[in-house]
Formats: sequence, C-alpha cells, structure tokens
Amino acid sequence: MGLFDDDKRTKRTLGIRDKQILYRNAKGRCQNPACNKKIEFDEMQVGHKTAWSKGGSTTLRNSVCLCYRCNKLQGNDSWAVFMRKQGIEDPKKNMKQSLEKLTLQQLKRLAVEHQVKVTGRVEQYLFSSQRLAPTKREYINKLSKVLTVSDLNSVRKEPSKAGKTKSCP
Ligand SMILES: [Zn+2]
Repeated sequence: MGLFDDDKRTKRTLGIRDKQILYRNAKGRCQNPACNKKIEFDEMQVGHKTAWSKGGSTTLRNSVCLCYRCNKLQGNDSWAVFMRKQGIEDPKKNMKQSLEKLTLQQLKRLAVEHQVKVTGRVEQYLFSSQRLAPTKREYINKLSKVLTVSDLNSVRKEPSKAGKTKSCP
C-alpha cells in the first residue's frame, strides 16, 4: 500500500494538461537543440531532465518535450550529460561568458530593459544596515538566469545608441 502513496514519485508520466503545457512551451518542437524537429502532440515524448530512475520527479519543471529519437538517445542520462555528449555547451555557461564581456553600464541597461531586479549585498552594521550597489558579478549571476543569448543581441547591435552622448571614461 505504502509504495504508491507518493504520487509524485511513482507517477512516471505527466498528466494530459501538463503535457499540453509542455508541448505549447516547446512550440511543438523537440527541445534537444541539436534536433529541434517539429513534432505532433501525439508524437511527443516526455523526457526527464533528471532521469526518473535517478530520483527525478515527474513534474513540468523536470520535463522536456522530445521526439522519439532524442528520447531514446538520452536514455538514462541527465539532461546536462545528454547535452555534453552531443557537444552542446551549457547555455547558461555561455551566457555568463557573454555577459562578462559587457560593461557594467550595458548590464544595467539589460536589467532595466528586461525588468530584472538586481539587488546588492546588504552590509550589516551595529545599529543599521545599508544596501550596497550591485556588483558586476551580481548583475551577471542574476541576468544569466533570466535572459537568453538572443536577448543579448540588442546590446551588441546597438552598442553606441545610448553610449554616444557620453563616451567611456
Ligand atoms: Zn529530437
């Protein structure tokens, strides 16, 4: 009896509603970047980012929309391993590297454009505290979680638009 109590853990497939959301979020395409094949809803395989056999739960967060071939290809590998095996770099890592090339000014502008709130550290004093201005590192960490590589194109394409009035010190 107790075996089947934990529904989240024992359930191996998503419910129909979650599947529809997953399919819609994936825009009807296989989410393996190396594939990106258009698939029918009926064809969709629900892959796990962390394999079910390794404790990954069957939730929308842990799911990816895959075609039959890619689902087979991934096997029991986690999503990160699967990507590495295909020679695809962690997009988040790439993202950080790209962000590091930007100036603090550009990072600030990105944060404003995309309504990303970046807050600095709070320095505690004896009777008060003060919030410090966010550092470049804090901007990068926060932005890399929210933005995608294509969001950076706007910064690269028009670097001088806002910067023209005032050149770098
Ligand atoms: Zn595929």
